[in-house]
Amino acid sequence: MPVVREQKDESESSSEEEPEKLLCIAWSGVSKRIPVLLFCAEAVVSKDVAIRSVGEKYNLAFKIVRTESRLVRGMLVSHGFHEVHPNNNDFNLMWTGSHLKPYLLRSLQDFQKVNHFPRSYELTRKDRLYKNIQRMQQTHGFQNFHIVPQTFVLPAEFQEFSSSFSKDKGAWIIKPVASSRGRGIYLVSSPSLIPLDENILVSRYISNPLLIDGFKFDVRLYVLVTSYDPLLIYLYEEGLARFATVKYDHATANIKNQFMHLTNYSVNKKSSDYVSCDDPEVEDYGNKWSMSAMLRYLRQEGKDTTLLMGQIEELIIKALLSAEIHIATACKMFVPYRCNCFELYGFDVLIDSNLKPWLLEVNLSPSLACDAPLDLKIKASMISDMFSLVGFVCQDPLLRQPRPDRAGIDSRMKNPLQKLQMKVLRRAQEEYDRRGGFVVFCTLLVSSALFCFLISWLFVLVPPSFSKVQARMAFSSYLHRVQLRLLAESKANMGPAWTQKEHDQMELVVRFLKRASSNLRQDMCLEEPSRQLCLSDRQRILSHQLGNFIQLYNQETKQMVESLDKIPDEERCINSNVFQEFILEASENDLEEVLTFYTQKNKSASVFLGTKYAISKIQNTDSTAAQTGNQDQSKLTQSTENCSATKHCNKTKCNSLQNGHIQRKSQSGDCTAIEVLPNPSTAAETESRASKTHTSAVRNKRTGSDQPNAAALECEHIVLQHCLPPPYVQPPPHPLANMSQKPSLSKSRPGSAGLLKETDSLSAQAQSNQLAIVSALRKLVEKQAARQYSTSSHISLLTQHVSHDLHIRYMFSFSNITA
Ligand code: ADP
Repeated sequence: MPVVREQKDESESSSEEEPEKLLCIAWSGVSKRIPVLLFCAEAVVSKDVAIRSVGEKYNLAFKIVRTESRLVRGMLVSHGFHEVHPNNNDFNLMWTGSHLKPYLLRSLQDFQKVNHFPRSYELTRKDRLYKNIQRMQQTHGFQNFHIVPQTFVLPAEFQEFSSSFSKDKGAWIIKPVASSRGRGIYLVSSPSLIPLDENILVSRYISNPLLIDGFKFDVRLYVLVTSYDPLLIYLYEEGLARFATVKYDHATANIKNQFMHLTNYSVNKKSSDYVSCDDPEVEDYGNKWSMSAMLRYLRQEGKDTTLLMGQIEELIIKALLSAEIHIATACKMFVPYRCNCFELYGFDVLIDSNLKPWLLEVNLSPSLACDAPLDLKIKASMISDMFSLVGFVCQDPLLRQPRPDRAGIDSRMKNPLQKLQMKVLRRAQEEYDRRGGFVVFCTLLVSSALFCFLISWLFVLVPPSFSKVQARMAFSSYLHRVQLRLLAESKANMGPAWTQKEHDQMELVVRFLKRASSNLRQDMCLEEPSRQLCLSDRQRILSHQLGNFIQLYNQETKQMVESLDKIPDEERCINSNVFQEFILEASENDLEEVLTFYTQKNKSASVFLGTKYAISKIQNTDSTAAQTGNQDQSKLTQSTENCSATKHCNKTKCNSLQNGHIQRKSQSGDCTAIEVLPNPSTAAETESRASKTHTSAVRNKRTGSDQPNAAALECEHIVLQHCLPPPYVQPPPHPLANMSQKPSLSKSRPGSAGLLKETDSLSAQAQSNQLAIVSALRKLVEKQAARQYSTSSHISLLTQHVSHDLHIRYMFSFSNITA
């Protein structure tokens, strides 16, 4: 069911906008003033007049060209769309069975949509798909793209095929290059049986398919792409498992039996053994099951369906990536607006007995026929959710008025990169809000300047994918940036006068060093610079001492790595190449953001602050634990109060106070600070005590029992604060970074450009907008993370297998498809 949203701001609606209040509108755009129609699958059957009235009010129109789909037509009509002649250009949606000519694409208005991208045949023609994947195998490693059975295009590659065949005899499957529904497909066991007078594809036959009750089956998955640049992919939560009608036996004598070897519905429905099921509630009976019923069955058989689905998702992303460059280029050439095209692909996947999924083909217009009640149940929901997700703007196609948001925030942002970032985030979030049963399955292809920003968000969004060693590396890199900033400031601050703020900053660094160095296993000689010295000298000395600390700290991290045969949580963490790339590119603020969130999520900063001191301190102070807790509580309360009292304070960071030991705090105006609480009595103590303390601290704060006062800075918290944008200095590689694997990402990142710094120059509205997006994304991700299907394992799968070789890309998946 689509999300039903109420219009929030009454003042934004005109008096005639009553119907959309009923049900079917989501509000999009910067100021949430663009109405987008939400679909409801039941409307196809119920023919609800209220639902129809919204589309009717806006005179929404569609046309169906060179195809027929009762389901699509029914869905649109039940939502008040009316059908126009194929030659009529006043439509909101053109649903077509084939690709559009460039001149037709170029003439699209911003509110108009078509259901294909140009050059989608790069995916959907079997020969093109194979060639594109082969190219990826050559450039990114065969194993990384070993997702399709070995294939040759004949007659051109007959020689290669013959030599492959002579090395490894077995059955091969012959397919026309551009056909479907099993037409023209047959198996051969000898090259001499293959005709050479037509273009055909010959693929290695997967002779060990996974069987259910002895029958071969394949899986149809529905994949929606709403953009190729950036690549935005959604996988529908439900699919179909299609069974052969004759039990599988791979003896050569059966090679001609299509009902045994082909799983197409179009083929098997002709068999007298075909069993259909009339009950939509029964999903595991007959020759067509729901995908979830199939997964449930496999899970009962002891199969790891989470791993399987992770691999299927990976396969889908890889296939789309292989064609992405062609399609994105075509979009740039022919498609006037980013939102004009969307496409629903039908991915056919065969699972072998080792549970490895193989991509058989990608269908351009997957069948939406509803021959069985199960078809209708799955496909009607899917089409309805797809239409909601792609988002039809409620605009009368005859009235070409400008959208209300045009002169909004985006146009006030001068930096095109910022505009793009905002658009990408907003679009992704809006689509996510309307996703229904589509699982977010998002790949972002970004420029190098955007890379770090997105990666840092991903780290923040998906904190469990951070290993302990990585946490320490991130912390060390963060300190390194602080060190460089101090150094740079010492050079700039040659004058005698220095402010209270700068004084405080020095004090905080000193206190941090005292605390943190006592956590080191080795002794560190710490000399507090004399207060008599001028600011620049103190900054220089502190920077030097911070450098010493970092060196010892890195050594300990290195020892930690060496002492472990295998880092236990490394498997589930973010890919090391991606991580190193992030570390190298991230600004101080990027790192701050990640560390803050990581600390909050883990309810402890001890992972990167060390525990030596903590242990002794806990032992020493055990008897006074309750008292210490109370002190912490009051300090936290004060900090929280300070934070929330500040006008420009980042809300999400304030929230991190609730559990975290690292917290941001805004002092005044726009300045930002990160407050690190290495006090082991809070940082390393048992988590239950820590969280109890903090929860009550926040509760007290809400009831106003603690008042903020100047003592906040006098507490044991160590605060590193900066009020000036730090100069960006490329840090040296981390000692643990494997530079030989350094990706080829261009280092063109301008200045210190972390997004947070860039946003300093944004308007308050832009900032709050961004924060709203971020907090919404975070909430959604947390919801996703709570689901059964392990997010981090997919992150790790994707990053390990894909990002490893596609360095400027990063993808994440918040899947929840499971049995
Ligand atoms: P079509 O587009 O005509 O449906 P497919 O490539 O999907 O063509 O193949 C049709 C059927 O043949 C598949 O559903 C599957 O059952 C079987 N098949 C195709 N390729 C292979 C293969 N390499 N190994 C085993 N079975 C295959």
